[in-house]
Amino acid sequence: MLRRSARHGVGRKAARKSNAGFMQFEEFGLIEPLMRAISEEGYATPTAIQEQAIPHVLAGGDLLGCAQTGTGKTAAFALPILQRLYTTRTDGPRVIRSLVVSPTRELAAQIGESFVAYGRHTGLRQATIFGGVRSGPQRKAIAKGIDVLVATPGRLLDLVGQGVVKLNHVEVLVLDEADRMLDMGFIDDVRRIVRLLPRERQTLFFSATMPYEIQHLADSILRNAVEIRIAPEAPAAETVDQTVYFVERAQKHLLLAHLLTGESVSRGLVFTRTKRSADRLTRTLRESQIPVDVIHSDRSQSERERALDRFKKGHVRVLVASDIASRGLDVDDISHVINYDMPEEPETYVHRIGRTGRAGAAGQAFSFCGIEERCYLDQIEKLIRRPLPATSDHPFPSPVPRAAKAAATPAPTGPVMANGWKKPLRRNLLGRRRRR
Ligand code: AMP
Repeated sequence: MLRRSARHGVGRKAARKSNAGFMQFEEFGLIEPLMRAISEEGYATPTAIQEQAIPHVLAGGDLLGCAQTGTGKTAAFALPILQRLYTTRTDGPRVIRSLVVSPTRELAAQIGESFVAYGRHTGLRQATIFGGVRSGPQRKAIAKGIDVLVATPGRLLDLVGQGVVKLNHVEVLVLDEADRMLDMGFIDDVRRIVRLLPRERQTLFFSATMPYEIQHLADSILRNAVEIRIAPEAPAAETVDQTVYFVERAQKHLLLAHLLTGESVSRGLVFTRTKRSADRLTRTLRESQIPVDVIHSDRSQSERERALDRFKKGHVRVLVASDIASRGLDVDDISHVINYDMPEEPETYVHRIGRTGRAGAAGQAFSFCGIEERCYLDQIEKLIRRPLPATSDHPFPSPVPRAAKAAATPAPTGPVMANGWKKPLRRNLLGRRRRR
């Protein structure tokens, strides 16, 4: 079971605190080789997640971190892991004592580089393995002896199956971007990997969002975990001009076409909740002669790169994206972010609108909110701590007034707890769903 320790806003409070420089790296009691590396990296003060996670991970506890890439979460787990491995190493042959599982090769490579950077004065060694490339060099790196292995699930299981990787000495497991692993279909692989590890271990679990399956997985592999929730820092909420359009599902595509032709959308990013609705919307817009491209995780890497490139170069003015595909999407001068579907997780809203209004530029965010999505709007307003300006002043207004939402809106998949997380629904022995 998880010990719920941090609530909404804690992360943001901590971020302010660390920005004000109250907390220093010196206070963690990190060893000198790590302090030297931190100073060489040019880090002055810990980020919010580092401030909260490092002491706890150093103390050996399990962790559930709800935080996105960009918050400094890699150092939040890498520094205490390196400290543990350094201070408890023995003279025997090197064995893999820490395993980091990451969904994509890009993220795995980034994490591997961070371990190299932070661990450069410790003498500890790491290897990074992922699919899509020959395994020879990866096998060689492992054969030399490593302390930390960073891996994507498929290649890891391959090399375990071939006896190249042994996981029986792993003391610390990190699962990074667990929600993305779910989206990419790796969740069974992840469960298989967990079953290969010693039961006695420390587990650090990170996910930007917490859909039911992820929370269930976390519950099943964490022990007495502390939960840390870092809301993405919200400069976007200040620099982006945000408007909610009350419109019902059947008319959303008409409103979108209306806004795309009327508004000065020079570069618009349109978010849908699912891959299927991204594809459907793309077809509809093309039928209306609006040139668009689409990215989501069912498209191949090269298709995604091509779409992104066309969008960046301005060959298409509108890109339709599902959330996961858009993570880390770094395109300058996005004039509009349009939430065609309201995001189920309030953090996702902040993340999405953060694609525009970058570097102080003006940006606009439009959110299409159907009657059944008004509960998500409530959660967003709770997170950003203010109401969003809404309009019905457009050609396709919802016939249901805003105030009617309480009676008409069904609850989301599970009830929302005090900290904004959705309580999962569990099935009882009869197969009926029940609330926990
Ligand atoms: P991550 O979320 O781990 O991908 O980190 C995002 C970026 O923040 C990386 O470029 C890190 O080098 C950088 N970073 C991590 N911790 C700090 C810190 N305490 N101060 C400044 N930059 C940091």
